[in-house]
Amino acid sequence: MPRVPGDRSEVFRAPVGMHDVLPPESRAWRDLVAAFADRAERYGYELVVTPIVEHREVFERVGEATDVVRKEMYDFTDKGDRALSLRPEGTAPVVRAFVQHRPTVPWKVWYVAPNFRYERPQKGRYRQHWQVGVEVLGPADPDLDVEVISLAHGFVRDLGITKVRVLLNSMGDAGSRAPYAAALRDYFLGHAEALGDEFRERVETNPIRVLDAKREDWQDVIERAPQLTEHLSATEQEHFEVVQRGLDALGIAHELAPRLVRGLDYYTSTTFELAGDALDAAQNALGGGGRYDGLAEEMGGPPTAGIGFGLGIERLLIAAAAEPGGTAAPSRRVGLDAFVVDHLGGLEAAIVLHELRESGLRADRAYGGRSLKAQMKAANRSGAPYAIVLGPEEVARGEVSVRDLETAKQVPVPREQLVGWLQLRLAPPGAAE
Ligand code: AMP
Repeated sequence: MPRVPGDRSEVFRAPVGMHDVLPPESRAWRDLVAAFADRAERYGYELVVTPIVEHREVFERVGEATDVVRKEMYDFTDKGDRALSLRPEGTAPVVRAFVQHRPTVPWKVWYVAPNFRYERPQKGRYRQHWQVGVEVLGPADPDLDVEVISLAHGFVRDLGITKVRVLLNSMGDAGSRAPYAAALRDYFLGHAEALGDEFRERVETNPIRVLDAKREDWQDVIERAPQLTEHLSATEQEHFEVVQRGLDALGIAHELAPRLVRGLDYYTSTTFELAGDALDAAQNALGGGGRYDGLAEEMGGPPTAGIGFGLGIERLLIAAAAEPGGTAAPSRRVGLDAFVVDHLGGLEAAIVLHELRESGLRADRAYGGRSLKAQMKAANRSGAPYAIVLGPEEVARGEVSVRDLETAKQVPVPREQLVGWLQLRLAPPGAAE
């Protein structure tokens, strides 16, 4: 039987581990997404939007042996008896769309979307979280790995986050990974006796994933485990070196992290993570990604290389807020250019507002026939630098009064010059030169 919350105080709350984003905090979200779109488009990426649900199979393909898919997925059956899942991650849906539509390559896309994972909620870990990310289908060129990492890194810096480290690893290709997985399994099983059933079970399911297990008592054995980068084929080794040289050439500092194995099974070759050092150690990943050169083919498409990353919006905002120059800092001016205060019953206010908005200005007013005093209070609270006061005498003279809400000085402005007057004063310094 489904669990139904018992009383209204539980029903009319967001589900456990999920959050509303309200103004004024939502402004930081909006700015973050705009900054990401801007940077991604500068690199030649275009927006892709995929459904929030997919056939369960789409995700099973990418993560049969992972917690994200095995334990944490929100699955349901729709009224037509289809097994569907809420998306737990961003890459599989984009590759599914690629396979379905077969766009010409290179296909460079960015996205912003929520993901759902039934995890134990804590700060920086939620049951619904959002990611911005990119995917590129087509080229296997290591220069593209460098582009993708530099896009992620540059964007994080755009947000004023300076405490960020790029961790880099290579997962090899299927040819080098299978013998490595076998060697790793043997090595781990040699220690399974001492480490218990859970360890043995994890090793049997996916020995490579054990490398990033967090259990304290396993760390000794994990640290001494053989490393994949020692088992790379010559081609993979060369690819990995080109990526490192490319990052060096762009001045992007990076650290080799041989035990960095990302949470999903599809990764091959380059993998990376952006560690945010302003975050709690257990949740310090701002995001990460890597190559998944076999995934399109596995979903029934032509053999096509792929690479991408996802960055967690909530964690980026936590990290930005923790730094003095972070853009999530609350001092930024929110919103409006002008607030219309009306003594005339509303019609004139509606016309002035319409004009201001049609000219590209951000303007609002109070509704509900409120007193002049209440409207002035609303104007002050709105954050707008100017109030436009519409009184009977001003209107009779073909004027409005513009009040500077910071200095409380009021000046008459001819009605037909209002838009130009505001635009001139609101323009950023130097714009008129
Ligand atoms: P992943 O898809 O697991 O590689 O996650 C990419 C990024 O999304 C992580 O580095 C986090 O920033 C963020 N993320 C993943 N899972 C969660 C979660 N449960 N709550 C909040 N953010 C998350």
